[in-house]
Amino acid sequence: MRNTYYCCLGLNRRHGQSLRRSMDELSRFMAQPPLEEPYRFVELADDKREKIQDAFDHCTKLDDFLGKVVVTMTTDMLPLLILCPPESTIAQLARKRERTACWGASFGDRDECSCYWLSLVYHLNDKHTIWHEALHLLGADDCYDKETKERTCELPNCIMQFEDPKQGYGQGLPLCQANIERVKKHIAEMRKDHSSDAPHRLQ
Ligand SMILES: [Zn+2]
Ligand SMILES: [Zn+2]
Repeated sequence: MRNTYYCCLGLNRRHGQSLRRSMDELSRFMAQPPLEEPYRFVELADDKREKIQDAFDHCTKLDDFLGKVVVTMTTDMLPLLILCPPESTIAQLARKRERTACWGASFGDRDECSCYWLSLVYHLNDKHTIWHEALHLLGADDCYDKETKERTCELPNCIMQFEDPKQGYGQGLPLCQANIERVKKHIAEMRKDHSSDAPHRLQ
């Protein structure tokens, strides 16, 4: 079983704990229908987290930070999900770069490595926003029109749409059929890559 690492940067202990619970909840839902993938989100070990925190605190350019993450994590440990405060420098730089990145941003060339390899989440009030970015790392696509922000999939409470659905997200992990298939396919590919120790290609 492969897992995806996450870390909390610049957040107090209490906030970190509640985010950890949200990540554990997501891991549990991954194993249940409709995904049924025993896949876990695991907190990054302290030694790695400290290095990433140091880069996060000191980098003043987004690309410098992304470069430091790649060096620190080594390719077999990516992708990485970072949870951080919206006022942090890196979060502000990410928001400036991407017009639609109001709550979080994902990085990576999807043509080259078929997936994003780093997600930053800085809107931390709703676990669904965090799960949205986490699932980008597992191959899920956005379900909204980039211009109108309107939902483009069949599921009214799909987690990959832009705005909170009017009736709420309900229970579990609401994900449309197309994204269920993308995530399952992506996890299968990651398992294959991992078993042959092939490095992920990065941009
Ligand atoms: Zn998205
Ligand atoms: Zn959808």
